[in-house]
Amino acid sequence: MTIKKISWRGNLVSVQPRIRLTRSFDQRSHSYLGYSLHVAGTIGDQEKEFLVGIGKGAQAKHKFQAGYRIEGECLPVAAPRLESVEFYKTSKLNVLERSPLNPGTPPPWLGIPDDLVTYRQRGHRRLDARTYVAKCLACIWGCRMAVEMIIDHWNPSQRKYRSETFCFGPKSCRFYRAGPTRKVPGRRGMIWEELDWVDDEDTLHRELDE
Ligand code: SF4
Repeated sequence: MTIKKISWRGNLVSVQPRIRLTRSFDQRSHSYLGYSLHVAGTIGDQEKEFLVGIGKGAQAKHKFQAGYRIEGECLPVAAPRLESVEFYKTSKLNVLERSPLNPGTPPPWLGIPDDLVTYRQRGHRRLDARTYVAKCLACIWGCRMAVEMIIDHWNPSQRKYRSETFCFGPKSCRFYRAGPTRKVPGRRGMIWEELDWVDDEDTLHRELDE
């Protein structure tokens, strides 16, 4: 049976990487799924803001950036806890108007986001969830990741889910706030606290303004 996709169109508020973070106590790994399009417009018969996932190939082809007016078709995600977007399997993507937002003086950084390899190489620091919503929604360096936590690696079916916000941007950004440390539940009630040194190590290779 073919499921009918939902048509949508609207203005791009932002384009950010679409990444899933898997945590197992003090271990973490990333799945680079593509990009998240934050759209203000119409989906089906609803007018609202929504998040649509696309692959890296679609982003490389269309070079989406904040301000563009675009349209497409998609499906609701089958496993919302594993995705930072609400819709995916996007097709019939089309740019209606190439009118990028004036980048002005950053922050936030607007324009076309880098490829996913660059994001991986840059590394990230935790970003306060409220700062992300207040200051970083439009920035190409902001990212809300879907997080899957394996509580007991001897019993991997035991999992928990949440989302976490991160910054891949310059360490000197004046909007940046780290927020509370992230705590990861483990077996027998143990907790791993991800302290600042993890972020420092992940971004050590970058200068302050890089
Ligand atoms: S804190 Fe990070 S995501 Fe937010 S504006 Fe600055 S560089 Fe962008």
